[in-house]
Amino acid sequence: MQEDLFKRLVAHCKEYGFVYPSSEIYEGLGGVYDYGPMGVELKNNIKEYWWRAMVQMHENIVGIDSSIFMHPSIWKASGHVDAFNDPMIDNKDSKKRFRADVLIEGEIDKMTAKATKEVEKAAKRFGETFDEKMFRETNPRVLEYTQKAKAVEDRMNAAMKANDMADLKAIIEELEIADPDSGSRNWTDVRQFNLMFSTQLGNISGEEGKLYLRPETAQGIFVNFLNVQKTTRQKVPFGIAQIGKAFRNEIVARQFIFRMREFEQMEMQFFVRPGTEMEWYNYWKAKRMAWHNAITPADKLKFKDHDNLAHYANAAVDVQFEFPFGFKELEGIHSRTDFDLGSHSQLSGKKLTYFDPEINEHYVPYVVETSVGCDRMFLSVLTNAYAEEMVPDAQGEDANRLVLRIPPALAPVKCAVLPIVRNKEEMVGKAREVFDRLKPHFLCQYDEKDAVGRRYRRQDAIGTPYCVTIDFETLENDTVTIRERDSMKQDRVSISDVVRIVKERTDMANILG
Ligand code: ATP
Repeated sequence: MQEDLFKRLVAHCKEYGFVYPSSEIYEGLGGVYDYGPMGVELKNNIKEYWWRAMVQMHENIVGIDSSIFMHPSIWKASGHVDAFNDPMIDNKDSKKRFRADVLIEGEIDKMTAKATKEVEKAAKRFGETFDEKMFRETNPRVLEYTQKAKAVEDRMNAAMKANDMADLKAIIEELEIADPDSGSRNWTDVRQFNLMFSTQLGNISGEEGKLYLRPETAQGIFVNFLNVQKTTRQKVPFGIAQIGKAFRNEIVARQFIFRMREFEQMEMQFFVRPGTEMEWYNYWKAKRMAWHNAITPADKLKFKDHDNLAHYANAAVDVQFEFPFGFKELEGIHSRTDFDLGSHSQLSGKKLTYFDPEINEHYVPYVVETSVGCDRMFLSVLTNAYAEEMVPDAQGEDANRLVLRIPPALAPVKCAVLPIVRNKEEMVGKAREVFDRLKPHFLCQYDEKDAVGRRYRRQDAIGTPYCVTIDFETLENDTVTIRERDSMKQDRVSISDVVRIVKERTDMANILG
């Protein structure tokens, strides 16, 4: 793009009240954003789509809303105090901070891009007869680039796994990686940096009063496992869902709302009988992909298995989406074994077991987790929706139109009500009457300012799927035109049918499989 288009999308988000940079009048705060009037509607609809798909559609999934603050031991047991780190490196000249692994990945990407360029050149040269697979396997230059990329990747992964910060630094030096902005190669050593934000309880001083802002919502589910199981009498397998804020002190927060320091997660932990976790892992992989596919074209999504499994996982995969800056993680699906319940049990001294009446056994359930970022989901919906196109205007001339093709069920405003002229009292009165009839059912906007063509464009720009226009004929026979955003087709319908039509077409049930 894609870069250019991405910049325009970010500008559009601000101009139309989807997302603002935080604290803008004070020059902003890095990696923190605010959602505006349109943004909060879209975000709430995304959350509702997830909640309904998980909780409403599954009898054996229930929700909770746990606190952001939790007992600090929770983060000891979960491994976050000791291991929730990223390797960081500072450039001594520019004083900028980077993630060492991200710098190295950038170099790997360059090598793969070189190989792809060779392939593309050859494809042009050979035309129809080109055999890409054979070319990749035999061309010396392509082989050199891909083998080098693989060797660097393997070495980086090994260094990360072994916590070998010196080797990460050595890779950066050997590849002669420079600060992307200043070009300087004057680096500090690589150090581990813990991503948790901490704060202090008012009534206890020192280390004992140290609290963390949760870096994931999952732990609030684990520590409530028994409460929920007992109060709902759910039987394994069952799940607990939660939507909530999480905080991570990301070393480099960029790419807009893709990587933020304060963000929202939609997580579900599914508790299963040990030994059945792979079955459920595959079940949730398919289910979650279907959820994405209901609103996102399949070629924009793919699975990517994890190369390095976290200490708690025996299988893990990301659902990646093709953001304007490439395929990147949108959701993680992890088989977390009994790690979390087991270590909370150990540290708290409380038994977190389940009695399975079917096999007459007590055990610590295994867990399959699905975890999707609400903000990344928001960005993916907007990336898919954003379109700049040429369409005929009222005079039949080509005109630019910017439209957000947001799935109707997720659109912030469902319907706009537009009187064709505003200086006729009877027409405005009728339009107000229609607006009042619609507004208890869904979010509507009333707009009478400017020519109707401009009003349509304003609604296109925020993704409103339907515009209802009140014209002279309305005054005669109580019919209105209803315009569909994507096709721009207009149908004449009776006022008494408008609620039903818009409701049916914007119903979330349409996308809940
Ligand atoms: P990444 O590798 O991109 O840092 P992660 O693997 O650490 O992500 P998880 O811990 O699996 O992410 O979190 C689950 C989901 O939460 C991610 O798939 C993503 O959608 C979202 N998420 C994680 N970190 C951030 C962030 N800093 N800003 C926005 N969303 C995030």
